[in-house]
Amino acid sequence: MSIIILPEEIASQIAAGEVIERPASVVKELVENSLDAAASWITVKIEEAGQKLVEVSDNGRGIPADELSIAVARHATSKLRSAEDLFRISTLGFRGEALASIGSVAQLSISSRQAEVDFGMKIKVEGGQIGSLKPEAMPVGTVVKVKNLFYNVPARLKFLKQPNTERRVIDTLVTRYALAYPEIRFQLFHDNRLSFQTSGHGDRREVLGLLYGVDIARQMLEVISEDKGCSINGYISPISYTRSNRKEIIFFINGRPIQDTAITTALIQAYHNLLMVGRYPLAFLFLELPAEDVDVNVHPTKSEVRFRNPDQIFTAVRNAVRRALLAYTPVPEIQPMNIWSAKTWEYSDKNHTSRGDIEKDENQAFGMEQIQARKAYNQTETNYLNRSGILRLVGQITNTYLAAEGPDGLYLIDQHAAHERVLFEQFMKQKDNNLPGQVLMEPVPIQLSPAQARLFSDQISIINQLGFQVEPFGLNTYLVRSIPALLSGLEPAAALRALVEDFEEDESPLAGEAEAKIIARVCKRAAIKAGQSLSIEEQNRLLADLEACESPRTCPHGRPTMIHLSVDLLERQFGRRGAR
Ligand code: ADP
Ligand code: MG
Repeated sequence: MSIIILPEEIASQIAAGEVIERPASVVKELVENSLDAAASWITVKIEEAGQKLVEVSDNGRGIPADELSIAVARHATSKLRSAEDLFRISTLGFRGEALASIGSVAQLSISSRQAEVDFGMKIKVEGGQIGSLKPEAMPVGTVVKVKNLFYNVPARLKFLKQPNTERRVIDTLVTRYALAYPEIRFQLFHDNRLSFQTSGHGDRREVLGLLYGVDIARQMLEVISEDKGCSINGYISPISYTRSNRKEIIFFINGRPIQDTAITTALIQAYHNLLMVGRYPLAFLFLELPAEDVDVNVHPTKSEVRFRNPDQIFTAVRNAVRRALLAYTPVPEIQPMNIWSAKTWEYSDKNHTSRGDIEKDENQAFGMEQIQARKAYNQTETNYLNRSGILRLVGQITNTYLAAEGPDGLYLIDQHAAHERVLFEQFMKQKDNNLPGQVLMEPVPIQLSPAQARLFSDQISIINQLGFQVEPFGLNTYLVRSIPALLSGLEPAAALRALVEDFEEDESPLAGEAEAKIIARVCKRAAIKAGQSLSIEEQNRLLADLEACESPRTCPHGRPTMIHLSVDLLERQFGRRGAR
């Protein structure tokens, strides 16, 4: 093929591809424009996950009528004049590309009015074609409507995720800006229903409360630090509140959301030794540094930056977080989940209490349902010390493994994985005749972020079949009325939050697998943990229950529950037989 210069239309679609990848990219660009226009409120309206409509309105300074048609052209910006300006950018935009890009892949209209004039002006762009200006009566500010995104780029449409995933990405984005700019009133609607809003009172903890519930917001530790021209503000979670992933570790640098693995590492290092393996904090940190120390012109979506002194930033973040942690955190305390011993079988020799006493205590401590559930469970009880299983218990090692002798050598059993397997099979067996739930004395409300609420509502019918009884209770809030008997030792809100975290990890379990997956997750939460000391009876019980399983060798997630060291292997290792 010979070389040609691409027609303008194709060139701009290619350029648009870098900036506008999905509906959330439109939301990001438009919200940033409103922020740059010094708006004090920003309203985002979404229809059909943004594919049909993204509308962002603000009360910012507006666009002069005679500049409207320039604003939608490529490389048109009011925020940059010279190449040197690139290194003292104080606005979120500067590339002058967003509106032009959007106009080339959607039907775009912009209505805008400045305070000095009595009416606004409207301009339309479709497939890159700029229409004529029309006057429009409107309050001061700007309304941008983006309809039928990618209508002329069908290939792009195919790359979009499930509508609920796209909605969730938008929710996450808008809530982040709301956190970063608490002095601005944000509203987000999906299909004409309010999904999230802030007051604009300027209180970041209040926004945190809307997203994570008041209890968690109250526990968050404030970070305030100023170090060689770099100021760091925000909130981090105490070590008692962690998550299984890094999704709630968020950085804003000079007002823009930034992804930076180095800074994330600095944060995690600050928590060093204070968290259990595989657990991560929540963190919302807002860094402000001199514009000339950050290069924002690295990435078309401006989601990455380059620092002039990366090491200095790294150290500043680590120190600021560490200081906050040490200032607020008393002695590190990790609460073991005591579900196992507390409810199921701890009338062991440990406390030398007679069974009658325990039942009396239980009557006071737990509800009737629970006692019944436990009695049912205990009917199967036998004397496990003299049981005739295949495995003979040797003992517990580092409160994590059970050692047992089997027909052919030594078995090392991971107590957590094994218990997961046991619970999983019990769950699966019971599930068809409605899993027993434990009704809570008082229903517990749980507040989720809009994105989490969306995930959760997708799965609620399955969750309710598993012994949970959860119902919607206001904006992004759910009421927990009961939890599965197997989980009865857990704090209900924590049990549900843990499930939501798991959903975030794995967005779309296949329809048929969803139930088993959710059960597996519940079991993971409920299972005894590594590091938990077990009585001899409990150890024996676990061995017996594991032996009774249909698939005792793996946990529900497919990891091994046991390692087998055969007599043969032992003999070779000790040089008793053959050469190694
Ligand atoms: P950039 O933000 O990089 O300058 P955009 O294409 O996003 O480029 O916007 C082009 C110009 O249109 C901006 O520089 C700004 O002057 C104007 N503009 C866009 N949105 C708004 C808004 N909501 N309020 C006021 N002016 C706006
Ligand atoms: Mg912009």
